[in-house]
Amino acid sequence: MDPQLDQRYSRQILFAGIGEAGQRRLLASRIVMVGCGALGTVLANLLVRAGVGSVRIIDRDFVEPSNLQRQTLFDESDARDSLPKAIAAERRLRAINSSVAIEGVVADLGPRNAEELLSGRDLILDGTDNFETRHLLNDTAVKLCIPWIYAAAVGSYGVTMTIRPGVTACLACLLKPESRADSAESFVTPQAGQAEDTCDTVGVIAPAAGVIASIEAAEAMKLLVEEKDRTQSIETRLVSFDVWNGQYHSVRVARDPECRVCVHRKFRYLEGKAQPHVTMCGRDSVQIHERHRHLDLALTAQRLAAVASDVRHNDFLLRFRVDPHEITVFADGRAIVKGTRDAAIARSLYARYLGS
Ligand SMILES: [Zn+2]
Repeated sequence: MDPQLDQRYSRQILFAGIGEAGQRRLLASRIVMVGCGALGTVLANLLVRAGVGSVRIIDRDFVEPSNLQRQTLFDESDARDSLPKAIAAERRLRAINSSVAIEGVVADLGPRNAEELLSGRDLILDGTDNFETRHLLNDTAVKLCIPWIYAAAVGSYGVTMTIRPGVTACLACLLKPESRADSAESFVTPQAGQAEDTCDTVGVIAPAAGVIASIEAAEAMKLLVEEKDRTQSIETRLVSFDVWNGQYHSVRVARDPECRVCVHRKFRYLEGKAQPHVTMCGRDSVQIHERHRHLDLALTAQRLAAVASDVRHNDFLLRFRVDPHEITVFADGRAIVKGTRDAAIARSLYARYLGS
């Protein structure tokens, strides 16, 4: 190995689980991360430092001051400039490890772009905040036969599970209640147990996201350094951790012999039947997905200056206020309308100010 790389990764190479052969495999690995928030920033930081060769980061959002408490790759200037998270992360990660190929993609992962954005990668990592996208990841990963790692954190609690299509249980197996190895309340997923709990309603503390993202990163490293013929040795376990009360659980998850996804190969989310064109996006905001539309941000900003306030734009997005709403629109026409949970209001604001 190159002496410089040898030195850079010396502490990792000394670790028996990785060694020089494992480090070589890490350097040759190509991963994709979906979502670059509390989990994704920790995960990206750890894996880029570890020397994973190529990292694609997909995120649909921009940096805000309320992110800085837990999203460890971002700083105040990113929030001030409303930089898309994928771009801010890419810049920061390049400064951390210039030998890694890092690609930030500002996009909302959906049925029409999932296969294109996720294919050709050795591993898919979950840094998302919603089950709609996780089901889409599961469908796509199973269809393309790419391993993926599910992870979620809310409050002081988080869960993670490594999924190998065709070998282990998948997300759809897990979410089928009778297939869970243990029915104790504490093992249930955030979706099944606390339907209303999200980071936007009950908050999240950085240590919870940090622990789960660290377990996820370790699982990723294990998986990437394994020789292909030894991949059976990683057992499927749903791991959960509550950093506030100190509870840790690890349970085996069985495959569902009638699973829609990994047995019957029905990819409902990937076929787009389940995806609405307007979705809730955290508290008090609605996301509008527009297709195949290109907005000239500078021109639109000029036009809006007469009718809206606080009109600002950068290379990636345009933001303006129409009290009590704040609208952020990306160059591909996608928009996030803040100040309402009503899709009809969001739609009508979009049509009025941005056209249709
Ligand atoms: Zn399954």
